[in-house]
Amino acid sequence: MLERLSFLPDLHLVGGAVRDILLGLEPEDLDFATSAPPEEVMRLARQAGLGVAPTGLEHGTVTVLIDHRPYEVTTFRRDVETYGRRAKVAWGRSIEEDLARRDFTIGAIAMDAQGRVIDPYGGQRDMEAGVIRAVGDPLERFREDYLRVIRAGRFAARYGFQIEKETLKAAREAAPKVLAHVAVERVTAEFNKAFAAPPPAQPSRFLRYLYELEILQRLIPEFEDNHLLLQNPHWHPEGDVLTHVLEVVDRAPPQYRWHALLHDIGKRDTARWKPEGWYSFPGHERVGAALIPRIARDLRLPSHLRDELVVTTGLHMVPVLSKPTPAAIRRFQAQAGPHLEVLKALFEADGAGRRPKEAWAFFEPQPVPVQPILMGRHLIARGHRPGKGFGPILKAAYEHQLETGETDVERLYQAALARLSRG
Ligand code: ATP
Ligand code: MG
Repeated sequence: MLERLSFLPDLHLVGGAVRDILLGLEPEDLDFATSAPPEEVMRLARQAGLGVAPTGLEHGTVTVLIDHRPYEVTTFRRDVETYGRRAKVAWGRSIEEDLARRDFTIGAIAMDAQGRVIDPYGGQRDMEAGVIRAVGDPLERFREDYLRVIRAGRFAARYGFQIEKETLKAAREAAPKVLAHVAVERVTAEFNKAFAAPPPAQPSRFLRYLYELEILQRLIPEFEDNHLLLQNPHWHPEGDVLTHVLEVVDRAPPQYRWHALLHDIGKRDTARWKPEGWYSFPGHERVGAALIPRIARDLRLPSHLRDELVVTTGLHMVPVLSKPTPAAIRRFQAQAGPHLEVLKALFEADGAGRRPKEAWAFFEPQPVPVQPILMGRHLIARGHRPGKGFGPILKAAYEHQLETGETDVERLYQAALARLSRG
């Protein structure tokens, strides 16, 4: 791809793509850097017959389309001023200047059109050693942009690397300031990236790092002291709530990791000490579901995710506690609505390894509709006058439907009347 853009002066491949290529991984997206200012990049790309869009002109970024695929081309930048948030930047003259403002050595490597590697900060050495190390003075780099404290943990979890000693020390020192200085949207975006990373990435390492830095608890106060909440060893040989939740996050499919992270969020507020030496958490799923809207608002999660989290957190104990009778399954299906699949994935991630296989049977959906079949219009057709009397009949019919799997309107109607006359 470097050849197709060779009309750009001092063209280099940069950032995560170089890192992934050198690690022998498939790079996600290719980002390029050039000495040409953005207007010049647009002009040259058009001249070469390529589509261009000014996607981030103020940062120097132009998107170039090659074979209908987008590539970001960014003008070399250098820091001119910093004030604890993002660095203020100006166009730079050299790739070295540009690499100097990147956060970690493994992401501060460039590759030129001849395939030569430019690696002024020993990124390849750190890659081989499996180390995340800040470029330059770590505390200074974290103060320039506190999000980097979180990014360090994400990269360590993604590649199974260790954070280098001085970098970790600076991260601990900077940690209490992170959330006051960084927009929560950027923090949530890091969670999303950590959750989406392919194996061998371990999102639990990212989360435990944030817990040890007391960032996770500041973000979501219900995580406070979760490592002290011991659980019944019969159900939870892994021990405390934090360890359990992090294991479930790792086992859950990437798209359901928020659900895993928040499924037991009601445990802290419901913890009751048992003389046996552990806590029980009666009603934690209900309490947890009630906490979700506030947490989702704090984290700026999209509303469809918030709505689903309310359901999954609220219902996650149903398959654990009920006997998998067809009636129980129908009732569960009715409550779960369109969220049955995620509840199943969560149930498997939650219980893997500690539940007998028969329990999975619960999730073979019952092959009958679980929406109410007997409706008001059926009662009108049978001579009932619309009014207060409708409610109890419809409710009794629906209960009978879920209980027995009955789907015939007339039989549901008769059963409802019989139930009500029995009182
Ligand atoms: P991924 O795309 O998997 O998150 P990445 O390394 O590509 O990893 P991006 O956020 O896409 O990360 O950024 C691309 C490159 O830009 C990084 O490799 C890094 O060199 C630089 N960079 C990004 N964000 C920052 C930041 N907050 N501070 C300093 N450099 C950064
Ligand atoms: Mg990237």
